[in-house]
Amino acid sequence: MERYTRRKTRQIMVGWVPVGGDAPVSVQSMTTTKTADVDATLAQIYALKAAGADIVRCTCNEKEAAEGLARIVPRSPVPIVADIHFHVEMALAALEAGVHCLRLNPGNLRKPEEIKLVARECKDRGIPVRIGVNAGSLDKRLYEKHGGITPEALVESAMIELGLFAEVGFDDVKISVKASRVPLMVEAYRQLAERVDHPLHLGLTEAGPPPAGVIKGTAGIGTLLMEGIGDTIRYSLTTDPVEEAKAGRTLLEALGLRERKNVDLIACPSCGRAEIDVYRVAQEAQAALEAREIPLQVAVMGCVVNGPGEARSADLGIAAGKHRGHLFIRGEIVRVVPEDEMVEALVEEAEKLVKEGFEARLAAADKGAAQQAEDDRRELLGAKGADVNSSESRVDLIRRRLESSGDGAGGRRL
Ligand code: SF4
Repeated sequence: MERYTRRKTRQIMVGWVPVGGDAPVSVQSMTTTKTADVDATLAQIYALKAAGADIVRCTCNEKEAAEGLARIVPRSPVPIVADIHFHVEMALAALEAGVHCLRLNPGNLRKPEEIKLVARECKDRGIPVRIGVNAGSLDKRLYEKHGGITPEALVESAMIELGLFAEVGFDDVKISVKASRVPLMVEAYRQLAERVDHPLHLGLTEAGPPPAGVIKGTAGIGTLLMEGIGDTIRYSLTTDPVEEAKAGRTLLEALGLRERKNVDLIACPSCGRAEIDVYRVAQEAQAALEAREIPLQVAVMGCVVNGPGEARSADLGIAAGKHRGHLFIRGEIVRVVPEDEMVEALVEEAEKLVKEGFEARLAAADKGAAQQAEDDRRELLGAKGADVNSSESRVDLIRRRLESSGDGAGGRRL
């Protein structure tokens, strides 16, 4: 598996999930339900876990939320972080509820004595804290000192909080310095990584709805991960949080930072050569393989002329040709199936591949399939030619018309 050289960080434990050190980069998300609604919140936590979240945060903004947490924590399949803003008593109540970590916002929980009180309590209970700096709620004094929201201001906010914790001998901490602008967020984390060895929680805050939110989040989080910075990540999207967990998991798998847990479906973008509706077949295959949690890279290619070759590196794939699907394993044709059975055959082969392994499935290949596939390929190539989108014949036509009009240079009339 590919690996980036990760910055060395100390490790903390959020419940039973290690964060930092040599622990895999973890995925986080946050519930959108009222925490007091225990059943709805637990249902969302389970959905988030199924989508790839390792840790889930819930708001603890009122007494009822803290009481909800007391009921949620023992039934949760993942460690729970309580999100605290403004109210020190909510931090203490969340600890009482048994949460596995607190997130404190230095921008709105500012009294040093209160911060130290929480830190002392966390120290006694062995509960870690995330110092969650957010550009949108930066302390006004830092805003004025730095002349606005700058990477330096975000980092200083975290360092002040860390200093207060140090006064009571508490250091069980991970840190985030989130902003909604990618360059600002990236630079703040880079600077922070130079200053501390605490694990870093990456996120681009208020990224907005997909697809733009996912693109912005990926630009920020992905850039830092590829520089070796980041121990746990959260996409902040304006949509069902399940999409956040999926995006986080997909990014880590794409970067080779986590083992593939589910299918990675690749598909050609389709073109004039396509023999099938590539979008539809890709969607059907994605849904079927995802539901079965097939941890393979699977390709859906619109034609047999280029498909199997272009998707040679995929574990398994199917390419369409002459009303048939050519099933291939790592570029080798193993079976030819009727077009309307393509998705079914793909799923069936994927399951066998997971169960029996590559060698066994290649050995079980239909010997005549490769020849049949090659015949289809040649026939299609002959029928459609190399210039399937007819670009050259169109150019010829334009030229001929221009010439016959006798107005080739000006091109006013066709
Ligand atoms: S695989 Fe075939 S249909 Fe798909 S983009 Fe390539 S040439 Fe076009």
